[in-house]
Amino acid sequence: MPPAELINPSVRRGPFKAVLFDFDGTLSLLREGWPRVMVGMLIERLRAMSLLREPESDEWVAIDKLVMAQNGAPTIRQMEVFVEEVRRRGGTPADSWDYLREYIELLMRDVRGRWDALEVGELQPADWVVPNAHAILTNLRDRGVPLFVASGTEYDHVAREAHLLRVEDFFLTGINAPKDNDPSFGKGKVIARVLAELGIRGEELLGFGDGVVETGEVKRVGGVAVGVASSEPGSGWGVVQPEKRARLIATGADLIVPDYSQQEGLIRWLWGEAK
Ligand SMILES: [Mg+2]
Repeated sequence: MPPAELINPSVRRGPFKAVLFDFDGTLSLLREGWPRVMVGMLIERLRAMSLLREPESDEWVAIDKLVMAQNGAPTIRQMEVFVEEVRRRGGTPADSWDYLREYIELLMRDVRGRWDALEVGELQPADWVVPNAHAILTNLRDRGVPLFVASGTEYDHVAREAHLLRVEDFFLTGINAPKDNDPSFGKGKVIARVLAELGIRGEELLGFGDGVVETGEVKRVGGVAVGVASSEPGSGWGVVQPEKRARLIATGADLIVPDYSQQEGLIRWLWGEAK
């Protein structure tokens, strides 16, 4: 048995010829807390337009669901969905790009402090990645498997964070992320390009992600998806985040892990080298 929760007992076991990682919540924890910031802001916007209909206790659940259904898509997509939601409630929304700017400004208040602290060495990269992320990347690189990262977060930010967290060197072909929040960016396109460039089949792709978008795209081409139901810093190693887990399973994740603390056994199992 793998040192992970096995959701699909007939999952294909490698060898895999490429591995795709999502960035936020899958490698980086620097944007930890982003759903709280986004959902909080959108609820405030709805309140300001007197468009909150549900009892207060249900507001968070409703908006969180809306946001997390797009987890992994370019951030502008989440704002577009919110614009649709405002209209659905009979309101007149602002432009999705205005919402995006406001959200990034709010989020960056937290994130910028973390960037600065990493830069001067007050914070360590290992403390702001999903536990053992450097170890799984090293393990896979040592096996000679090409590694790719695809993120729905703005390119400049992902590039900077990959550098600060010392993971950029694992991704030889660079960072795949939307430049200037390009809404036409898609993880499905990145996967199609990777498969074409390497001349490999979808089933030879292994993906790691904490979002429904990358998990769905990896499954769509017939690859194996490991759902990373990562929790937030401070909640300890080995703790699966239950809502993430449920969404990842519903999207087709083959296995669920809380982090990479068991990465060595997991990779051996996925490569068919361990029972
Ligand atoms: Mg993510």
